[in-house]
Amino acid sequence: MYKHYAQPGPEDGGESPGHAVAILSMARDSRRVQVLDVNTDYQRLWGRPRKEWLGATPNVVEQEAANQQIIAQLHDALSTTGERDFEGIGGREVSRQHDGSRRHIEWRITAMGGYQHDTITLVLTQRDVTGQVENEAQLKQLATTDMLTGLVNRSQFDTTLKSELSRHDRYARPLSLIMLDIDYFKDINDGYGHDVGDQILVEMANLLKGNLRQADYCARWGGEEFMLLTPETSLENAVFLADKIRRMINTSNFPVSGPVTASFGVVEAKPQESVKRIMKRVDNALYLAKEKGRDQVSPIELVNSARLA
Ligand code: GH3
Ligand code: MG
Ligand code: MG
Repeated sequence: MYKHYAQPGPEDGGESPGHAVAILSMARDSRRVQVLDVNTDYQRLWGRPRKEWLGATPNVVEQEAANQQIIAQLHDALSTTGERDFEGIGGREVSRQHDGSRRHIEWRITAMGGYQHDTITLVLTQRDVTGQVENEAQLKQLATTDMLTGLVNRSQFDTTLKSELSRHDRYARPLSLIMLDIDYFKDINDGYGHDVGDQILVEMANLLKGNLRQADYCARWGGEEFMLLTPETSLENAVFLADKIRRMINTSNFPVSGPVTASFGVVEAKPQESVKRIMKRVDNALYLAKEKGRDQVSPIELVNSARLA
């Protein structure tokens, strides 16, 4: 056994697992890869004892087809660069385990010297990075989500709007933006308390989510303002959707506060329009809905008027 590769693990009195290492041999012509030896962490990673690995095909991931692909990639890399200049290959794979769980595995294969008798010795090092990947996903989730409502937050919506605007330019497909602001929300807070206000925001978010298609985006823009981005939707259809939501809010029975209404600005993206410009237009459209008496959607003719152009 290659003792210096064996790292202390929990059962050795060690603290945390290190790199799983397998020493491999690969025949130049047959592409057959065999395990010569493995360390403790390799045995722990794949849940099989050393004696079962000796002479077997190594695991980079649990799926045989993916392992074969990696071996083919290894062969190609070795024959392209020649073994002297071979700097190794590596990556990060998702391994679907037999118990149905998924593991993220970071791996690297390097060569120990060149071919001898048409066989080359390789070192496979691996690390289970599932915890790290999950932490990153959790951090990303925290950074992009509004804590109160669970909707995406303003900064994430900004990113989405930017990418949807460029998609709209590339494919010339309709894209509409709806901005919604709860009417007299300050009075609700003042009259019933901040907690009741919060509860209304949560219910509003659920109502919005429940009325969107899979491809639509819904964000909490801030305070009592929400944004809906609806790809493949013309201005006319977006106005129709906004008015449907407006009526649902208007007729919903919000506990404690009683009726709540909201006003809507609706615009359709123009060719080459910037985020700043479309945001300005939708904000203007919402302002008009407020000015005209609230609990309404900015009518198309006003949205298109010279005043907003
Ligand atoms: P308008 O019809 O013109 O929109 O009037 P409004 O009262 O809704 O608008 P205004 O901008 O005057 O007040 C918005 C209020 O929203 C004030 C602020 O305290 C409240 N608010 C902002 N964020 C939150 C929140 O997270 N929770 C609660 N409960 N209130 C919030
Ligand atoms: Mg507001
Ligand atoms: Mg408001």
